[in-house]
Amino acid sequence: MNIYKKLKELDLPIGQYVVVGGAMEAHGIRKSNDLDILVTPKLYQQLLDSGYEQCRCEECLRTSRLMLNKDNVDILPNFMFGNYIGDTRYLIESADLIKGFPFIKLEEFIKFKRELGREKDFEDIKLMQHYLKNNPN
Ligand SMILES: [Zn+2]
Repeated sequence: MNIYKKLKELDLPIGQYVVVGGAMEAHGIRKSNDLDILVTPKLYQQLLDSGYEQCRCEECLRTSRLMLNKDNVDILPNFMFGNYIGDTRYLIESADLIKGFPFIKLEEFIKFKRELGREKDFEDIKLMQHYLKNNPN
C-alpha cells in the first residue's frame, strides 16, 4: 500500500489525526499491510456523519470496539490496549511529521505494542528500538 497516496486521498484535517499503523513504514523500518489512523472524537463523529460506517466485523462486535473501516484503512476514536491508554491530544501534538503527514512517535508505539504482546509485536519493538538507537533525535 502506498500510505502517502492513501493519506492524500483521505485528506483528513491536520491537527485532528495521527497515523498509528503505518508509522514503521514512514520511517523506512518495514512495510505496512494496512493503515491505522487515530482521530479526535470530533473528527470521528464527522466521518460517521459524512457516510463512513462503523465496522461490524466479529472482533469489533465482540469487543465493542469503535472503528471505521474503508479500503484497508482503519480509523479509530481511541488508541488503547491493556495498561496503555493513549492520550489522543498528546499523540497528535507530539507526532513526527513525515512528508507533511503526522505519524505517532515510535516511543509511544512501542509502549502500545508492548501491551499487545504478540510475537510479531515484540519483533516490531526490536526493530523500532534498533532504529531509534541509530537515529537519535
Ligand atoms: Zn472490525
